[in-house]
Amino acid sequence: MTTKNTNHSGGCLCGAVRFSASGDPIGGNHCHCGMCRKDSGSGVSTFVSFPANAVRWNGKPTDFESSLGKYRGFCPKCGSSITWRTESDDSFIDFRLGSFDDPTPFKAQKHLWISTALPSFADIDRDIDHFDQGS
Ligand SMILES: [Zn+2]
Ligand SMILES: [Zn+2]
Repeated sequence: MTTKNTNHSGGCLCGAVRFSASGDPIGGNHCHCGMCRKDSGSGVSTFVSFPANAVRWNGKPTDFESSLGKYRGFCPKCGSSITWRTESDDSFIDFRLGSFDDPTPFKAQKHLWISTALPSFADIDRDIDHFDQGS
């Protein structure tokens, strides 16, 4: 994949928050934890990680501290869930896969919290690593 100079644009449903991430992602996962389910309203949450210094914002997400030092960013206008980040390592930002204008280049590399995965989603992407909890 040669996307070094590629800009991956994205944003929320209403367009008040827009971002651009340059280069290649440094990770990605399907998260099956209960907090991601509440945050997204979906059965599984897929994230793509970019270095924080590769990201440019136009409009900023509002942060919700869902657990100590861990923040979920959402659009203050339309409520779309966009990011996950942790204070303990601010070198990267996880973006929700669906927030990218073109999510097709990205592939998750692991499953997290498979111990609480819903039956409908536990079997997707069987060819990548599965972790009972986080990793
Ligand atoms: Zn919005
Ligand atoms: Zn999660």
